[in-house]
Amino acid sequence: MIDDKSKNKMNAIWLEATGCSGNMISFLNSENPGLYQILTNIINLTYNNTLMGAEGDYAFEKFLETLETEFILLVDGAISVKDNGQYTIVANYKGKKITALEAVKMAAEKAKYVIAVGTCASYGGISAARPNPSESKSLQDILTRLVIRLPGCPCHPDWVVGTLAHLVGYGVPELDEEGRPLIFYGVTIHDNCTRRGFFERGIFASKFGEEGCMIRLGCRGPITQTDCPRRKWNGYVNWPIGANTNCIGCAQPGFPDGTEPFVRY
Ligand code: SF4
Repeated sequence: MIDDKSKNKMNAIWLEATGCSGNMISFLNSENPGLYQILTNIINLTYNNTLMGAEGDYAFEKFLETLETEFILLVDGAISVKDNGQYTIVANYKGKKITALEAVKMAAEKAKYVIAVGTCASYGGISAARPNPSESKSLQDILTRLVIRLPGCPCHPDWVVGTLAHLVGYGVPELDEEGRPLIFYGVTIHDNCTRRGFFERGIFASKFGEEGCMIRLGCRGPITQTDCPRRKWNGYVNWPIGANTNCIGCAQPGFPDGTEPFVRY
């Protein structure tokens, strides 16, 4: 039964296109709230290839049934368009192969909200990196409607869950010109970096493990907009710069081609 009567809870389809499942694994690490609370109080996840018990035709029927309800569409992974999308097949339904391109277009036409989860869905990311043999594109490149972008490689679970909760409770959160929620993407890493004091005093690390700002090692914190320094990762324990490695700009448009080399000596 797809129609859930819980107050405000909305149906959701999470489609994985051309990606690595990293965003789903990150989502499963959500702690505040945890997965059980998300699935019982915020969304009714009717279709997701990693989590759902159904398979084959029955699974895709859940997808089709959801299209007739009010739902949120989440997509992770870029959309391969080469040869009409043949390089990413998301389902086999009644003997017909369904491409990610086709499924995304079908669902985006009817969804109340569309969210690009992770950098590949948001900007093309690693899936669209040179030479891009699958001709992968971002979700916004193939749709003409508003796409809420939640870049990050992977996307932080709070960015997904916070956006879902806002959509269900209050509607679309305030977005920047790229379609990113300001609440998560309104500042640069550099704005709140724990090593910012070193930067201001001109103290720079010349190799990893040294104290000091890592800009001379290639840190992309000044051009990368996320709240990683304050939010942190893996249960709010640590984050890349806290673990002595520089920011590689994984949430920025153009990643990875435009933010390489990740490390400079
Ligand atoms: S380590 Fe990176 S983000 Fe932090 S202060 Fe230096 S340049 Fe900015």
